[in-house]
Amino acid sequence: MIRLRDVGFRYDAPGASGASAPIALRQISFAVPQGGFRWLLGPSGAGKSSLLRLLALGARPTAGTLEILGSNIGHASRAALARLRRRIGIVHQDFRLLPDLPVFDNIALPLRLQRRPEDEVRDEVHAILDWVGLASRATALPPQLSGGEQQRVAIARAVIHRPALMLADEPTNALDELQANRLMELFRDLSGLGTTILVATHNESLIRRYPAHELELAQGRLVRDG
Ligand code: ADP
Ligand code: ADP
Repeated sequence: MIRLRDVGFRYDAPGASGASAPIALRQISFAVPQGGFRWLLGPSGAGKSSLLRLLALGARPTAGTLEILGSNIGHASRAALARLRRRIGIVHQDFRLLPDLPVFDNIALPLRLQRRPEDEVRDEVHAILDWVGLASRATALPPQLSGGEQQRVAIARAVIHRPALMLADEPTNALDELQANRLMELFRDLSGLGTTILVATHNESLIRRYPAHELELAQGRLVRDG
């Protein structure tokens, strides 16, 4: 489902030679089976966001081999990458909602990209709006929402198309404990249905409440897989 072999990643630094560009990830190797759940841990600057960026196909590794959903990313065409991206759900740390689109349309985006019929889109979006407790906010614009509401919209948008791979960067930082617990129940349901899930977090109490396999990064290296 996901397999990394000696993956390295170096940001392009303007004006810097290859050798002095910052190295964000070094020799990362691990695999996650279909339906697997992983906490992604490590201090700020350890490389969590960079790893999520590679897995989200937002950048290609600068070393090693990355396989996602059965495709070798180093060899995949742009069209293949675009198709793969549609099977991935992402909750960004800063939500990345489209500010000029109502909540409904933000959440509908992944289904519309799949060209699903509008009546299905309507049913699915209303069902998930109920689930995240935002049924009354369907026509609001994201800037009118609280941080926790925006985070729930971002979560709804990431899961509505039942992605094969779900990546979340601090998905609970704007949620209260009850909402965070509900999100974990959702992740549990999704992984039961075969979605592979990686969640980067610093939320210690959440990790204690939901112990799971941990991937821990330190200074760009994987220091724990278990
Ligand atoms: P966090 O631990 O909350 O992820 P970071 O400081 O690592 O915080 O990153 C915050 C944002 O800044 C991320 O989007 C990251 O990609 C970007 N960023 C981090 N370090 C650099 C850097 N050296 N140059 C440019 N952007 C950076
Ligand atoms: P984390 O998410 O664990 O905080 P990051 O992946 O954001 O870690 O950062 C890993 C390393 O990559 C850090 O040294 C950071 O400064 C650097 N980095 C992150 N984003 C960028 C960027 N856009 N440009 C250059 N360096 C970056």
